[in-house]
Amino acid sequence: MKSRRIAALCFAAFAALSAPPAAHAESKWAQSNPDWVEAVEPFRVIGDIYYVGSRGLSSFLITTSEGDILIDGGMPENAPMIAANIEKLGFDIKDVRILLNSHAHFDHTGGLAALKAMSGAEFIASEGDKSALEGGFYLGFENDHDLDAPPVEVDSTIHDGETVNLGGVILTAHLTPGHTRGCTSWTMEMEGRSVLFFCSASVAANRLVDPPQYQGIVADYEKTFEQTKDWRPDVFLANHPFFFGMEERRQRLLAGDENAFVDAEAFPAYIAAAKDAFEKALAEQKAQAAAKKE
Ligand SMILES: [Zn+2]
Repeated sequence: MKSRRIAALCFAAFAALSAPPAAHAESKWAQSNPDWVEAVEPFRVIGDIYYVGSRGLSSFLITTSEGDILIDGGMPENAPMIAANIEKLGFDIKDVRILLNSHAHFDHTGGLAALKAMSGAEFIASEGDKSALEGGFYLGFENDHDLDAPPVEVDSTIHDGETVNLGGVILTAHLTPGHTRGCTSWTMEMEGRSVLFFCSASVAANRLVDPPQYQGIVADYEKTFEQTKDWRPDVFLANHPFFFGMEERRQRLLAGDENAFVDAEAFPAYIAAAKDAFEKALAEQKAQAAAKKE
């Protein structure tokens, strides 16, 4: 397994000069999914891992002795909320040295450019998602500008099995493509527990056939389901809180259950359901494509 030390670069002086990109117009997405932009109280999930996202879109802060790591940026309008959540917890967006992304869809990348400008962090992403991140488009829906996000420059690319190391924290990248071409899941250890930040395996708006969202999408999903079928992380986290039952677990945490997020059965249940949903969607999309041809 390749390992490398990522030198976190400090562009603080430059960041101060460049204004954060304007959020794209009050999106219809925020209207149809109000929970995506609704503030919730940030909180400590386990150890040095904190939830700093909105009600419907996760962002995670991992603090270390050498600066912090932030995963995912939510919608464009979420960037100031995420920075405020970090501050509420007693930390500072300017201490974020490394910025990561689960996948290049606007609901998880929209805030990244602004958060990068605020923090001066190094942005590390997969090769497969790089073009969409830097182009600010949704791969396969390039002409649907409702799905655009502010472009964000990728400072370095990460490959399957490589690690991001900062202040003793080691995050390993696992490419789990399908939902996007470069969908990236991250794993780490925290207080003796294995923690997974899962990308996503839902079909959502993706075309699987006729023509596919991107070449090889079906094989990618199948590879991801095969790769993850035996994963049993102690703590399963993901970019949408409902994937891992966040609200219910958070209530238990508030009630004093320190292990509310420790549940090795949570990810196997999630991924089995996602695989069933994928197979159903694939059969439906194939039937629709065949019907169109008749
Ligand atoms: Zn997505």
